[in-house]
Amino acid sequence: MIIVLSKHIDTHDKELIRIYLRDRGYAVRDQVFGEDEVIGAAGKGVVDLRELGLLPGVERVAATSKPYELVSRETKAEDTIVTVGSQGNVKIGGSRITVIAGPCAVESREQIRETAERVRESGAVLLRGGAYKPRTSPYAFQGLGMKGLEYMREAGEACGMPIVTEVVSPELAVDMRDLTDMFQIGARNMQNFELLKKVGSLGKAVLLKRGPSATVEEWLLSAEYLLAAGTNDVVLCERGIRTFETYTRNTLDISAIPVVKSLSHLPVIVDPSHAVGIRAKVSSAALAAIAAGADGLTVEVHPRPDEALSDGPQSLYPEQFEKLMRDIEALAPVVGKELLRTPRPGFSAVRGGGGRPGSAGGDAEPAGKPVVYNGESGAFAEQALMRIFGEEAPRTQAQSFKGIFDAVLEGSACAGIVPVENSLAGSIHENYELFLRYPDIAIVGEVKLRVVHCLIGDERADMDSIAIVRSHPQGFAQCRDFLDKHPSWTLEACNDTATAVSSIAREGAVKVAAIAGAAAAKIHGLKVLKEGIETNPLNYTRFLVISRKFSAHGPGGEESAWMPPSLGSERPDKASLVFSVPDKPGSLFACLEIMAGNGLNLSKLESRPIEGKPWEYQFYVDVSIPERGDFFAVMEDLKTHTENFRFLGAYRGSL
Ligand code: PEP
Ligand code: MN
Repeated sequence: MIIVLSKHIDTHDKELIRIYLRDRGYAVRDQVFGEDEVIGAAGKGVVDLRELGLLPGVERVAATSKPYELVSRETKAEDTIVTVGSQGNVKIGGSRITVIAGPCAVESREQIRETAERVRESGAVLLRGGAYKPRTSPYAFQGLGMKGLEYMREAGEACGMPIVTEVVSPELAVDMRDLTDMFQIGARNMQNFELLKKVGSLGKAVLLKRGPSATVEEWLLSAEYLLAAGTNDVVLCERGIRTFETYTRNTLDISAIPVVKSLSHLPVIVDPSHAVGIRAKVSSAALAAIAAGADGLTVEVHPRPDEALSDGPQSLYPEQFEKLMRDIEALAPVVGKELLRTPRPGFSAVRGGGGRPGSAGGDAEPAGKPVVYNGESGAFAEQALMRIFGEEAPRTQAQSFKGIFDAVLEGSACAGIVPVENSLAGSIHENYELFLRYPDIAIVGEVKLRVVHCLIGDERADMDSIAIVRSHPQGFAQCRDFLDKHPSWTLEACNDTATAVSSIAREGAVKVAAIAGAAAAKIHGLKVLKEGIETNPLNYTRFLVISRKFSAHGPGGEESAWMPPSLGSERPDKASLVFSVPDKPGSLFACLEIMAGNGLNLSKLESRPIEGKPWEYQFYVDVSIPERGDFFAVMEDLKTHTENFRFLGAYRGSL
């Protein structure tokens, strides 16, 4: 049972509520959930809920239908996002996929360091490794103990990765607290309740493995112990359960992922290594887990698995892990997520200095300014924004695409998110026009979002009651086939898809439906009448992150900033340009020849009429930035072969 306290409750009333509950046989614990302060009451006590609800300072009483409460979705509807490490940049949960990798056990200083470097290169953000190994046989390698943990800490620090390691006793938990970033409770210890209580009280993030014979309910009750002891940062890990099947080491319970995600707000990750136990089968199980909705993975990787002191047969070679990470990156957008490849800097990192070696870089924008997007909460642009900057990023809303450019230019926002292209409906020309009209704005990042459209209406509405449908024109264009089946519906265009939804919520209209994402329906408390109405499920929108150009100068010190402030620390690998060519034979060919000759891969070439110049065209061009060669010298060359050449920005392309 959860007692949500009123915002203004004083300590006296709070204590009276605790006493009231204890007197009636409950164990109580204070907890903060988002904005709410709550008291969790667990046990088999007897209480009159109405009387309890009338005590001073009680906002409401939520009786949960499950034996666990603090971990239940009934208590907290939104996903918990767990932060690991002191930098705060490694998060688990929400719309990201977080991958933990490393050896089964720390074997030597060199082994853990080498593994950390390899998995880090492939994109893992957390380093795993056992210093204390609970082994089935007392004669098997038991781990290097504290020394091993020190080696791992060193490797983690050198590679910028927080670490997670197994703790096997309450006494060791205290000794390990300052050395590890996250505790792992192993499968064999899932029901070691004294260990759970101690670890839960230490205020560190915890990875709780599912016991080989534990039911989902027992697993969640173990997590309840951790939360009841004081931590909020718990990640659940499915690692295979014991069944009659002996071919694999355990049986990966894929169905546990959606089950637990619906029962609990805690993130769920999967350990395919211990689940399957056979190296060649680990990656398939890992991808299946991501497809089933897992928030991440923990994978055993060893530089030389044949020499591993424990779990060699299930440890991936670094090359296999690299391939798995690439596959996850490609799969992520299909399930509406993005792989957290490197610790992503927050919004305040939209700043100068990421430029060409030797360039002037730029002044950092003051941190803490919001990112601006067009539309209301629940719009696809907001999802794109959260994907790049995190769920907590401060954000503001513009009423038009132009409003985004204005806010970024004036500096009231540090960055903006603009859609430029949809895989079904094509380019959003208005934004390309804006790039041309705002020469001081540059592209600094890219994100591609899978767009699943829903028909959304009032609780009382059904498909037959609908007469009017509202959405952004892009929403209509992407759902053309579906709308063609309902020719009697009148279409009304809105500024963005979420505004279409909120207008229905405000009016309480039964005849009106909106085309938008499921997130907008949830935010406004409306019903999804039909999900997945886009003409083709391979429906992606490409958003660009824009920022103001700073004082960086081009190769010859000229006015244009070739390399605007970049987002994140990775080398830009993509650039966008707009140009037109002289009206003579072979002029476009000459440009293409320059790009081809210098190894620039052209990913987009679109011709568009130039405003006010009938039958003259400009080209929208996206190219790769090769690792070798002087890309900016190529741009210089291109400039001399074109007219009205505009370099829109260099950034890290997303898959
Ligand atoms: C491990 O992760 O190294 C481990 C021992 O896992 P489990 O507790 O799931 O067997
Ligand atoms: Mn292992």
